[in-house]
Amino acid sequence: MSEPVEQLRNHLATLSDLHNAAALLQWDQQTMMPPRGRGARAETAATLRRIAHERFTASETGALIDAARAALDGAPPDSDEARLVAVARRRWEKARRVPVELAAELARAASIGHEVWVQARAESNFALFEPYLRHNVELACQYVACFDGYDCHYDVLLDDYEPGMRTAEVARLFGQLKEELVPLIATLREHADRVDDAPLHGRFPVESQRRLVERTLALMGFDPMGWRLDEAVHPFATSVGRDDVRITTRWDESYFPAALFGAMHECGHGLYEEGIAAELQRTPLGQTESLGLHESQSRLWENMVGRGRSFSSALAPLVRECLGVGLDAERLYRAVNKVRPSFIRVEADEATYGLHIILRFELEQELIDGALAISDLPAAWNERFRASFGLEVPDDAHGVLQDVHWSAGLIGYFPTYALGNLIAGELWERAHADVADLEERIAAGQLAPLREWLRENVHRHGSKFTAVELLERVVGRPIEVGPFLSYLKAKLADVYRLEL
Ligand code: ZN
Repeated sequence: MSEPVEQLRNHLATLSDLHNAAALLQWDQQTMMPPRGRGARAETAATLRRIAHERFTASETGALIDAARAALDGAPPDSDEARLVAVARRRWEKARRVPVELAAELARAASIGHEVWVQARAESNFALFEPYLRHNVELACQYVACFDGYDCHYDVLLDDYEPGMRTAEVARLFGQLKEELVPLIATLREHADRVDDAPLHGRFPVESQRRLVERTLALMGFDPMGWRLDEAVHPFATSVGRDDVRITTRWDESYFPAALFGAMHECGHGLYEEGIAAELQRTPLGQTESLGLHESQSRLWENMVGRGRSFSSALAPLVRECLGVGLDAERLYRAVNKVRPSFIRVEADEATYGLHIILRFELEQELIDGALAISDLPAAWNERFRASFGLEVPDDAHGVLQDVHWSAGLIGYFPTYALGNLIAGELWERAHADVADLEERIAAGQLAPLREWLRENVHRHGSKFTAVELLERVVGRPIEVGPFLSYLKAKLADVYRLEL
């Protein structure tokens, strides 16, 4: 590596450390911090962000980037060096448009907003949350105003979570998805009696569920020497370094699949973080950037593996042993794939999940464009939920207050979840072509071959490539709805014993 590239790398390494420190504080806030700690924590988060922002946007960084670019001198565009410089330059050019006070206030408001949201959700009290949400939306609008050259306001926000992706492209993909999902869900509702999921409901003590989750995660590669599993109001995964992966779940004593598949989901995120190549650590390439790619990993493990026919053979004995639920693999597989419109996104089945995302994607654009007032948001949510799902939202905790994202200012993030499903569909298809006897291995509880394939093709690259670039390399196509829909229809035809 040339000396100027090395100098840039060293400069950026301290920013990576600050990023990890902020991640640890966020993890602590959502798992350990006593509620009254929120005031001090918000100031600490804002200070860390301010220091990182000032250091990154300093002209020194620009000079180091320029010198490193000049020194690349014909390095292949896909090399770590060339990508490091390109990604650093893109992020630097974005960050320097944002005033340091705005960056710090975004962090402070996110920290405070989260704590208020926890209380508002527990009390189902939107009025309590409303001023904080209004502040976050105003900050997002101020952030948008820092940029130009985009087709619409929402593009600016989306670009932070899915670099290079435009709102119009997402709307096109979601339009195709919705067109297929709505009639599919209607057909399955007519045949609801074909699938019995009653045995999934009952009384399952947390300690028994914890054993089931630990046994399952061990198959995936959860290693207690480098990982932690904790409880959070809203499950998430983060990492504080390659060998320090933190995942969370939440326990529901009346329905065991929530914690089990939630934990598999977060473990999928954790495997991605852990799998980033060692040489990319403490560089901008070591921080994942495409949340669609990230989500493709969690959704693939949660649904394609976890709720798959093959893995049910490995899971059924564990469910019997840990919970005393005597379901055979076939009944377990069919039960966990029952399609039923419900209120909570993170617990939604695979068919209705996309509709939850489309609802949020549409509402967010209207909030950012000023077409929808914050005070009208709960009513708009409930009305559209009725139109899409045919259900009356009973209270805001089961509606507009259910997700953590808006409390933390994460607006523009939701579309990446459904993009993740589409990307997972394409990767899943390719993994079957590449890995011999993949389904047989999964049925035997051998998940390492799949994990290693993902590590080689996806994880190790970190943020060297955008989601579209990575897909072009691995499957030779951009993001498309076809593979995901084919997978989903084949599975549900199998589960419901129907022609779809
Ligand atoms: Zn996720």
